[in-house]
Amino acid sequence: MLTFNSPEKLQKWALARRAEGKRIGLVPTMGYLHEGHLSLIRKARKHADLVVVSVFVNPIQFGPNEDYAKYPRDEKADLAKCEAEGAAAVFLPTPATMYASDASTRIRETVLADRLCGLRRPGHFEGVCTVVAKLFNLAQPTVAVFGQKDFQQAAVIKRMVRDLNFPVKILVAPIVREKDGLAKSSRNTYLSTEERRNALGLSRALALAKQLVAKGETSAKRIGAKMRSELERNGLVVDYVELLDAATLDPVAKVVKGNVALIAAFDGKTRLIDNTLL
Ligand code: AMP
Repeated sequence: MLTFNSPEKLQKWALARRAEGKRIGLVPTMGYLHEGHLSLIRKARKHADLVVVSVFVNPIQFGPNEDYAKYPRDEKADLAKCEAEGAAAVFLPTPATMYASDASTRIRETVLADRLCGLRRPGHFEGVCTVVAKLFNLAQPTVAVFGQKDFQQAAVIKRMVRDLNFPVKILVAPIVREKDGLAKSSRNTYLSTEERRNALGLSRALALAKQLVAKGETSAKRIGAKMRSELERNGLVVDYVELLDAATLDPVAKVVKGNVALIAAFDGKTRLIDNTLL
């Protein structure tokens, strides 16, 4: 397995592989890899000859009061996991090599990114789109794999790829969960024992939404209210609960099959997100 720290060296390697006719699959991550990330690597391997995993805690997608400095990092373990999953290369750049000190170009998706997490984390999706566009130019992927865990992110990236004609196919992999239902996340390491227990409120609220829909409930207002109560009952502070059209991310009044339920909630100081298709 190759490792690249230099953006230029990765790009040179990727262009040479593409010239040989190889299909490259890209899995962008912020590291501290868990089974969710590994499932993305496995999916990428099915659709590409060579898989590149990027491990980069991207400073420009964090707000000033967010967890950039304390975001968990473990480069050695990440490399071992990528190697075990058969990645061809891992890209581990530094902020200084990714962003010139006078870098002044950003990519902003203007509709899907301005709601949900985008409202609460101003500039977040601009940071995400900018780094992902750079990663596409560097790794030259034919496919890139993202997780449904970050549902809005996947929607924003798909829109960016369509609108800017990036020659890359976006694949979305299902959410990988702990046995008890908690969606795997690098941020789960922040949780105390009590917070870890409370965190189950998210998957419970989503399960409740599914049950209600299965019983014939269609009112988004009523389903949303019950989800909120479930989150609060588990000691969580609701950031948002939304029932949306999965493609447009527009709110729905009447829930139909294929809609998505999304949650962001604070568990102590940690902000957790989760979602499910209904
Ligand atoms: P992150 O390192 O948190 O930025 O995540 C990198 C990629 O892994 C994103 O596309 C996430 O949606 C995806 N991902 C994170 N957690 C999970 C999970 N539990 N299941 C599936 N994909 C995930």
